Amino acid sequence: MNANYIAGAWTEGVRAYRNINPSDTRDVIGEYAVADRAQALQAVAAARAAAPAWGLSTPQQRFDLLDTVGSEILARKAELGDLLAREEGKTLPEAIGEVARAGSIFKFFAGEALRPGGEAVASVRPGVGVEVTREPVGVVGLITPWNFPIAIPAWKIAPALAWGNCVVFKPAEVVPGCAWALAEILSRALAQAGAPAGVFNLVMGRGSEVGAVLLEDGRVDAVSFTGSVATGQRVAQACVSRGAKVQLEMGGKNPFVVLDDADLGVAVAAAVNSGFFSTGQRCTASSRLIVTDGIHDRFVQAVAERMKTLRVDDARKPGTDIGPVVDEHQLAQDVKYIGIGRDEGARLLAGGEVIERNPDGAPGFYLRPALFTDTTAAMRINREEIFGPVVSVLRAKDYDEALALANDTPFGLASGIATTSLKHATHFKRHAQAGMVMVNLPTAGVDYHVPFGGRKGSSYGPREQGRHAAEFYTTVKTAYTQA
Ligand code: ADP
Repeated sequence: MNANYIAGAWTEGVRAYRNINPSDTRDVIGEYAVADRAQALQAVAAARAAAPAWGLSTPQQRFDLLDTVGSEILARKAELGDLLAREEGKTLPEAIGEVARAGSIFKFFAGEALRPGGEAVASVRPGVGVEVTREPVGVVGLITPWNFPIAIPAWKIAPALAWGNCVVFKPAEVVPGCAWALAEILSRALAQAGAPAGVFNLVMGRGSEVGAVLLEDGRVDAVSFTGSVATGQRVAQACVSRGAKVQLEMGGKNPFVVLDDADLGVAVAAAVNSGFFSTGQRCTASSRLIVTDGIHDRFVQAVAERMKTLRVDDARKPGTDIGPVVDEHQLAQDVKYIGIGRDEGARLLAGGEVIERNPDGAPGFYLRPALFTDTTAAMRINREEIFGPVVSVLRAKDYDEALALANDTPFGLASGIATTSLKHATHFKRHAQAGMVMVNLPTAGVDYHVPFGGRKGSSYGPREQGRHAAEFYTTVKTAYTQA
């Protein structure tokens, strides 16, 4: 049990990984198989061997597979959500929501499997017909982070399979439970669909060992990666140097602008949600609140008041608003940045304390959400992604300065604004340098059927999700026929 899935068989690992609950570190969720380099190579070989047959599978076969997987995930969302909250630390409602999203993604891409569009184009030459169609890329390597342990794998695996690719999936080390559960569901659906062994492979393990195989092996045609900037750059270099297709989703330092004319309640709710919920561990989290002079003090006070009511506790306990940080490394990073903010002269207005035990006495990686005010754009806390419940406020004199501050970042994933002005909302949508823009909505929390991705240092390559995912998971063929 809890093994890797290679060439259609459950395969013991070379060692075991102990999966710990960050809400209560005494709670061991399970021991999961860790693959080594040799097993990763076997998975790649299996995917390669299965690619020709799966690439010619029927849309009906792929629809049935993905529809079955989506139905099972949705039917089991309470149980899978509990596992997710237990291993990753987001609250139970957030975790169940993420599982439901994963199920919906499989359903969406089941539909896409039936809609492989093409074009028939008139040739510029007499008597010649031109067709433009899409074909599978072949073998795709999927490398995922820990913060959305089922939704991100779903939004890579579902389009890959829908468009006829074979998959080698390498999840993040700290969340093997959701990856294994998803693979288990897929393994049964693949058998039911009569898919060849090797269409889907799960290899859990270290990035530098198992992940590296996917970057370097010439039998892997394309790599989709979500994770940190540093690793993303390594992934890009390795893939580009051998001509593999590559897609990267990395960090964010997402701004949320609050203008004088904003509805205060809307602005505070959106800022608190996207800054602190899911423990701030979302790449679309708002970590910079850019607030114009006229509303600044009222807004900051209201956010600080709301923060006092946030309950930091066990992720699975009813009433918890903020679960623990995922593990001790991430907690250390959050604490380090809180120290950096203080040293840079920012004012820690609220929160930032490590809580070693929750109200029940359980030891966990708890951190009270932190709000910095009196910050400047040059501070490291406003330039580097912290990836925790740590938010800073920047003061702006007017809309133009707020927009300039919003765009003054190496990142460009999501950008939000709270305003009742149609003029400013319209201008912001056009001029925010981000892949996704939100008006009077949190920057975190996106639909599952439309493109997801960013600009600048946040992303590289085609968009994920929705129909745009075809750009990455298919390759275009132009065929000429002389009648
Ligand atoms: P984080 O753990 O902060 O989300 P990482 O970029 O370290 O960000 O990890 C994201 C994913 O990339 C994980 O699955 C991890 O195992 C993988 N990874 C880390 N280092 C490498 C590497 N050198 N090559 C391939 N994958 C890697």
